[in-house]
Formats: sequence, C-alpha cells, structure tokens
Amino acid sequence: MSTASLIARDVRAGSRRASDVLEEYLGRIEAHDGDIHAFNTVTAEQARAAAASIDAAVEQGRDPGPLAGVPVAFKDNLCTRGVPTTCSSRMLETWSPPYDATVVQAMTAAGAVMVGKTNLDEFAMGSSTEHSAFGPTRNPYDLARVPGGSSGGSAAAVAAGFAPLALGSDTGGSIRQPAALCGIVGIKPTYGRVSRYGLVAFASSFDQIGPFAADVADAALALGVISGHDPADSTSIPTAVPDFDAALERGVEGLRVGVVSELTGGGRNGVSNGDSATRGPAIGDAAGEVLGGIDAEVTERVLEAADALADAGASVGRVSVPAVTYGLTAYYLIAPAEASSNLARYDGTRYGLRVDGADVEEMNRLTRRAGFGDEVKARIMLGTFALSAGYYDAYYGKAQRVRMLTRRDFDAAYADFDVLLSPTSPCVAFRFGERSDPMTMYRCDTCTIPSNLSGDPAMSVPFGTGAQSLPVGVQVLAPALGEETMLTVAAALERAAPPLPTPQMAAGDTSGGA
Ligand code: GLN
Repeated sequence: MSTASLIARDVRAGSRRASDVLEEYLGRIEAHDGDIHAFNTVTAEQARAAAASIDAAVEQGRDPGPLAGVPVAFKDNLCTRGVPTTCSSRMLETWSPPYDATVVQAMTAAGAVMVGKTNLDEFAMGSSTEHSAFGPTRNPYDLARVPGGSSGGSAAAVAAGFAPLALGSDTGGSIRQPAALCGIVGIKPTYGRVSRYGLVAFASSFDQIGPFAADVADAALALGVISGHDPADSTSIPTAVPDFDAALERGVEGLRVGVVSELTGGGRNGVSNGDSATRGPAIGDAAGEVLGGIDAEVTERVLEAADALADAGASVGRVSVPAVTYGLTAYYLIAPAEASSNLARYDGTRYGLRVDGADVEEMNRLTRRAGFGDEVKARIMLGTFALSAGYYDAYYGKAQRVRMLTRRDFDAAYADFDVLLSPTSPCVAFRFGERSDPMTMYRCDTCTIPSNLSGDPAMSVPFGTGAQSLPVGVQVLAPALGEETMLTVAAALERAAPPLPTPQMAAGDTSGGA
C-alpha cells in the first residue's frame, strides 16, 4: 500500500493513473469490507468518473492538486451532494443532502477521489461504532474487537487499506480514540481551524472535523487541505493555513514536553533532560488526583514515548492539569444539552424519516421513537434534563464553569510546556459487548475530552502495542492553533515508534499491492 503523498506525486507526474490507483483500492474494499463493514455506502461509479477526469486533466497538462487521485473515505455525517448521508441512523437512512460539506469540497478540489461514506455510532454518539443502526464495524487488527468510535468506519477504512485518507469528526475523542485502536494517526484540529459547514451537528461547541492517515505526513497533508477560514461557518477562525508539511522535519530539540500527571499514574512536576526521571515517583507524589482505569501497558508506552522525545533532545517533565479529572462529567452534561437542541430538527417534517400519526404531535413522537436508537434517546433525555428550569444552574451552569477551569489549567500548563503528552485511549481495542454499560463506554474518552472542552488541538500517534499485541496510541496535545508544534512532536514520535504488527485482516492479503 502506498501513502497519499506518493500517490499524489505519481499521479501529478503522469507516472500513475488515478483510475488504476482507484481500482486497487476498490478491489480491496470488494474483497474485505464484507468482514470489516467500514462503509455504509461505496461510491464506486462516481469515483470512477472522478478518477477519469483527474487522468484527463493530467493528460491535458493541468495539475489536479495536492491530493491528485488519492482515494478518500468520508464519515457518514459529512454532507455529500446526492449521496446518502445517514449518520448511521434510521432517521436519515434515505436522506441525501443537496450540498457538499466544505471539507468535501476542499478534498475534491485538491484532487481526492471519494470512495464512500463510513460507518459511525449513530449521530457520532459512542466510542465503539456498536451504536450504528446498520451494525458495527470490525477492527482490522482483530475482527472480534471494536475499531473504536464514533468514527470507527473511517479509522478501520484506513487501517484496512481501503483508502489512504479518511475524514472523521471529533466531539469528545471520535477521531483520536479510533485512530489509537486501529494503529493509525488521527488529528482533532483546533476548534475553528476546519469549517464545520456540512457536518451534521452533534454538540456544536465541540464538533471538529479532522483527518485519519497511516502516517503523520499524510495526516498533515490532509489537514492542510481542509484547514482555513470559511464564511459559511461563523465559528471558523480567519487565520492563514500554515505549511504543516514543513513542521514535520523540524525536530524536537529544545521543545518542552509535559507528561500529564493525572492521566499517567501521577508523579511530581518537574523537568528532566534525557534521563529516566520522567517516569516519576509513586502515585502519592502526584500534584492532583490521578485517574484510574488506564491500562498499565498504555501508560508505559506513553512514558516510553516521553523518553524517546527526551533522547531526541526535548526537555521532558511532568505537569499537573487538575481539571482533566472533571472533564468527563462536564462533557456528559454539555454535549447532551447541545445534542438535545441540535436533534430537535428531526421531527418528521423536514428531514428523513416520517412515521404518520393522527396529528402533528403524534407524528413527531412516532417518528422520533422509530428513528432514533437507544443511545441517542438517552442523550436527548439527559440533555433536556440538564437544561430544564431548576436544574440548569446545578448541572449545565456548573459544567460550563468546569469548562472554563479546564481552559485555565491548560493555559497554566502551556506557560511551562510547548506540548503535552498523555494516552489517547485508556485501553487497547476491546471486544464487542465488553463495555456494554454506558459509564464504562464513556470512560473511553477520559483522555480525549479535555481538549474538546478547551478547543485546543490534539492528535493520536501509534506508539507500540499493549495487551494482545494490539496498537496503542499516544496523544500529543498543543495550545490553540499550535498544530505545527504538535506535528513536529508527532513526527518525532513516529520516527522512534516500534513497528506495528500487520493487521489480522491484511495478513496473507495478496490483493492490491499499490
Ligand atoms: N464517545 C464520545 C461520545 O459518545 C465522543 C463522541 C465523539 O467525539 N463524536 O459522546
């Protein structure tokens, strides 16, 4: 399998045809997506037409762009004109939007070729893709395990070699956590870096679109393509797009890297240079509360990653970010509150499903009862409750104050450190049904949610394996608009990371060979 960068280079140079590249990927999808179920829709015919027009452009001496001929998969909550955009919900099963999301337009304008729409937890609510109305996606590393979620289909598609690039959305970790569980790179950009126009809203103050790729360079390439101001999204930041590519080779000499104590078993604050002091003393010395439930092997990989950065010349220390311990609680009040409002629009009148009733009210009720799955209903009820008179201050108001505290604690940490390090997911890919009670599932997002609360960028980079030789992801966090430094560190981690085993699904795979 090839990288997106190599494919685009060859297609632009005329040494490879976009149509040939596409057939290799479609062949793999055809051969293996029956096992993986990464896709809700495969847009083969549309893709063939797009690839042909890219080949024609190259023949005519025109440059199709930095993603020339690169197959890409879009999470099925990104609007694609005339192509079903279901959010993996019965509610939108038959709905096709009349327009493309800004990111879809941007990818297409850069020469990328959409191969399909990927599975997700219904309306992006979940961490395993088990909540899809159309059945779960399987992890290419172990078909008995989840790929993570909610963007599990996008992560699995890249890990399985169905597309070198995919886009997902991250409200509480839905790009980073599945990237970690599938052994690939996933980026949640700064809130406002990438336009949300055409992303079906879950929790608007958190939602952010970002890329999945097999390596940091490809993720940076895609990030550059989708970033930038968009007048169609009022929360989009009017700032120039940096040269993310240039950040990759910069090296970490002199950078200050803080390992988040609360998420890595504790340890005293302080900075060291290249020695083993980053491993820190016993938990009792932690500055703040230490969160439990994080696998020892995952923590160990994060500490090894920190050591690797120290070896590469960074100053590495421990840092306390106390508010991260409240992140989960605050998120599970604010996100459902926003969701309850955003999902009010699915009432049988304007979009998707309608179940007829004796009057409008009954039609609304029957439509919502039939159209939404249990997790979505639970979130709507939770959110409605949190916003109701009498409880608003106690729940929603307090959660918003925690959100402010989180920003303050991160700002304090970034006064001393350029980037922070933590696990992405507390565990490796788990088995289907293993986290069936909601609280256990929600805890998957312990390490990722804080940067959704703050709006800061964060990404997951594969770094070794944990239980059952399954991939572990290390999370690199940076201050707002600090994607360049984040990518510099991620690239250094990638250079130091031990090689990952081949996904089970691809072992013995002789198809393709792109
Ligand atoms: N797992 C989290 C949730 O269920 C985050 C989902 C997301 O980022 N879209 O809300």
